[in-house]
Amino acid sequence: MTLREFQQRIDAIYGARDRRRGIDATFRWLVEEVGELARALRRRNPQALAEEVSDVLAWTVSVATLAGVDVEKSAARYASGCPKCGGTPCECPADLPA
Ligand SMILES: [Zn+2]
Repeated sequence: MTLREFQQRIDAIYGARDRRRGIDATFRWLVEEVGELARALRRRNPQALAEEVSDVLAWTVSVATLAGVDVEKSAARYASGCPKCGGTPCECPADLPA
């Protein structure tokens, strides 16, 4: 499944409900799912992690659709490497404390 197909699939499954709920409430659901992903990471539960990643992906795509964003184009931003430095791997200054 391409990202475009995934976005179309999520819209077919949830699009009408997402549009009724609106972008602000849908975004709050995405944030709640990110919290569930954080809990799954803390518990180191591989099954829960896989499910929470898929939920975060689906809610992110729902928010993108409501905002008129084409996720395939968003992903293409990374097709040639890091969007900031162009590197693969990224050669931007490290964001972690030394
Ligand atoms: Zn970079």
